Amino acid sequence: MTDLSNSLAAADIAHSLHPYTNARAHEDQGPMIISRGEGIYVWDSNGKQYIEGMAGLWSVAVGFSEPRLKAAALAQMDELPYYHTFTSKAHAPQIRLAEKLVEMSPEALTKVFFTNSGSEANDTVIKMVWYLNNALGRPQKKKFLARNKAYHGVTVASASLTGLPGNHTDFDLPAIPVTHLTTPHYWRFGAQGESEAQFTARLLKEIEDTILAEGPETIAAFIGEPVMGAGGVILPPEGYWEGVAALCKKYDILLVADEVINGFGRLGTTFGCESFGFVPDIMVLSKQISSSYMPLAAILVSDAVYNAIADNSAKIGTFGHGYTGSGHPVACAVGLENLKIIEERDLVGNAARVGAVMQAELARLADHPLVGEVRGTGLIAAVEMVADKAARTPFDAKLKLGAKAAEFCNEQGLIVRAIGDALALCPPLIVTEDEVREIVARMERALDATQ
Ligand code: PLP
Repeated sequence: MTDLSNSLAAADIAHSLHPYTNARAHEDQGPMIISRGEGIYVWDSNGKQYIEGMAGLWSVAVGFSEPRLKAAALAQMDELPYYHTFTSKAHAPQIRLAEKLVEMSPEALTKVFFTNSGSEANDTVIKMVWYLNNALGRPQKKKFLARNKAYHGVTVASASLTGLPGNHTDFDLPAIPVTHLTTPHYWRFGAQGESEAQFTARLLKEIEDTILAEGPETIAAFIGEPVMGAGGVILPPEGYWEGVAALCKKYDILLVADEVINGFGRLGTTFGCESFGFVPDIMVLSKQISSSYMPLAAILVSDAVYNAIADNSAKIGTFGHGYTGSGHPVACAVGLENLKIIEERDLVGNAARVGAVMQAELARLADHPLVGEVRGTGLIAAVEMVADKAARTPFDAKLKLGAKAAEFCNEQGLIVRAIGDALALCPPLIVTEDEVREIVARMERALDATQ
């Protein structure tokens, strides 16, 4: 653990309140100070090297030392370090990045709105959808459908979409109208004797029953991550997304794909919706959009969504929404260069090829006595530990086995994320076959050490 006599560590304890951190435990343990990065590796302040098996927060596609992103940021700082995009102001990096995003994304998505974070983007989606339905003269069509274990952010509204208890407990979130549906995780929530197809049919029936019970005229949108990330790397059962898309169409409900983690190659396809054969009305992007070298998020919308917003803003005078940093020139310049690198180096193809090797290597861990399920696709995966393999009984949460195993991974020089008793992996898209073999070997040694 961190040497607390280190003055940086002491200063951190004295002055910082960390996100997603037990503040009292932090006072005892101190921070893990990361001081340097190169490729898929980072080093802590004691000089220990780690493979960053989570790409930071599921986000650093090009690795931790890409000189072209540094150059793009510096050049933009020289040219125009800041300008805004309110009241018809525009600048080249924002225009070019919007153009690039539209070029890369499904054909139906034609317009881009920029924010600084995924949470702000999802807040913006809620407001856009409400604004749109007011514009269309159906003010009662305002509710959102989301899923348990979904992660859509932590601002007041986006936290309401998030389906994780920890993001709700003790925050007094106001009554944003969101209904959370069953997590589409067959291994965990499939009933005894139920086939995967039957599980899909049950979940789709639940969605349709909910729509009918609440009234289709009250449901505005369905939001989901194609593969759920922070909720535990959960792949939908066969046919789920096609079914959801069909229900949204049938009941005139907007389909929002939250691709903040999936987007830009994580699953071995450019976007997650591509992997599952559906086209959303709204797509939310962040993280790998700029490899998180700069904070940046984008919302892509269809013509129909754009036109409703445009008509309404013409009628009432303005679309009264936006952030000081919406389309920040340095973030957009870095984002554009990052997307060029992803294309030029075929990092989406690399995620598919090296991802297949990572999944095959990880599959071996399914035989480990602690492991209940190994799941994943492309370069995202989770290894979930259970007390009883056959019955899939979870360990007592008080044991904090996931956190312990993640600590053993750290000892092995591998940073992973514990989500309950699942260990998540999401390495940078530049990772090689040899490196994913090394990642799995380190994880296996950590599991061996865990009990
Ligand atoms: N949506 C998804 C799918 C995410 O995974 C996240 C963050 O992990 C967010 C939204 C929120 O993004 P941010 O942390 O940038 O607010």
